[in-house]
Amino acid sequence: MAGIAAWEDDPQSLTAAKPAARPVPNLEHPGLEFSMVGKQPAARPYPEGTRGFRFWNAADALARAVSCWSRVLPGGARWHVRHPLIVDLDAGDDLNAYYDRQELCFFHAKVSGVTVYSGESPDVLCHELGHAVLDAIRPQLWNAASIEVASFHEAFGDISAMLSALDLPSIREDVLAGTGGRLSRTSRVSRLAEQLGWAIRQSHPDAVDRDCLRNAVNSFFYRQPESLPPMAPASALSSEPHSFSRVFTAAWLESLAGMLDVRGANADALLSVTADAGRLLLTAIGTARIASNYFAQVAAALLSADAALLGGEFGPAIRRAFVGRGILSMQSAAAIGGAGAPRRAVAPGGGGGLPTLDVPIDGRAYGLRLRRLLVEAPVGAARWSAASAAPDLGALPAATPDRASRAFVEDLLRRGRVDTASLDARAAHPRRGGRMTHALVREGRRVRLVRRLFHQPLAAAY
Ligand SMILES: [Zn+2]
Repeated sequence: MAGIAAWEDDPQSLTAAKPAARPVPNLEHPGLEFSMVGKQPAARPYPEGTRGFRFWNAADALARAVSCWSRVLPGGARWHVRHPLIVDLDAGDDLNAYYDRQELCFFHAKVSGVTVYSGESPDVLCHELGHAVLDAIRPQLWNAASIEVASFHEAFGDISAMLSALDLPSIREDVLAGTGGRLSRTSRVSRLAEQLGWAIRQSHPDAVDRDCLRNAVNSFFYRQPESLPPMAPASALSSEPHSFSRVFTAAWLESLAGMLDVRGANADALLSVTADAGRLLLTAIGTARIASNYFAQVAAALLSADAALLGGEFGPAIRRAFVGRGILSMQSAAAIGGAGAPRRAVAPGGGGGLPTLDVPIDGRAYGLRLRRLLVEAPVGAARWSAASAAPDLGALPAATPDRASRAFVEDLLRRGRVDTASLDARAAHPRRGGRMTHALVREGRRVRLVRRLFHQPLAAAY
């Protein structure tokens, strides 16, 4: 059978990594099609470093990610805006990758004599595709002015990369052997985007983990992101969404490890728990309230989803992981299905109601000539909604919508991520891509902050 050659998870996931022989990927996914820019080369194994290799390598990774998510998505799921989703594997010289509702865009850059293509790493490809999948099922997260919501989008991207990698039998075997069946140990699956991590480390050694871009095995405990500094070395948490996302990603991987313990550490069980973990996560996202402590809302909804869909099979594993990280306070976890708890003690619901609310911010405080800048703030905490843990004792009240959205806007402005020139009529058509994740857009007499894209923070480091 004719096939192609492709990386399984990253060009540098192993020392002396070699591309694997893979069948020609199926590119037909009704509702979730993607279309690659440029002429499609004939399907055959190409040597590394050629356009033909990068094309089929990316097609293989993206098709795998789409197929993983399709198995657990509700029927009829479609991309939120554009069909098919455009995939540009080489949009120019940069160390970046982004999703902007129209396309997944990747770049190349020469680092220490090596040309690195961000669109050559299945980890990066499946991360970006994860943004598009999450946007398809929960578009309300897109504009939410909340550090924690933006961070969840990044965590979901990394989870998408891990789930897609675990779809390969060879990776499942490799990871089980390499970790002794303990998925909570570092592995080629927990290490995301080794090659891009290497590329960034050449110029900014403390901006990424020592062995990859981000490792889902880490020791970060939940903090309210509004209280964190806007930047920090990779060894510490900051309010930058990729940095803060690591708290959720790590808890999720630990819960997956706990789920595997329930079913037994073998490749078949690993396949079945990854599918269940994906289904539980999508179900949870469908009901979690978009509050400023969104991680806690999703974790609580995961417990509810497990109780509803799987009879609570994984409740202890999920609870242990998310309580251990402080994402869910012990009180909240106890209230969900715990002994003696009121049946409706924690309400992860809110999916059907107003997901976010408009909050006006005085732009003059930030040097903008705007009295009222409208942002979509996360909703306030409901009386019984789940809470995260305080670092010392007990539960942490969620940041108010006002504080959460101000912290979000101030962080964006401080990082230079808001395209303020977009208010200029001549710049009505936003520039493609770029480093601005947000823009100011006129709506009649009002001005609103809107998201343009989710990107890797690589551009800042490069
Ligand atoms: Zn991302």
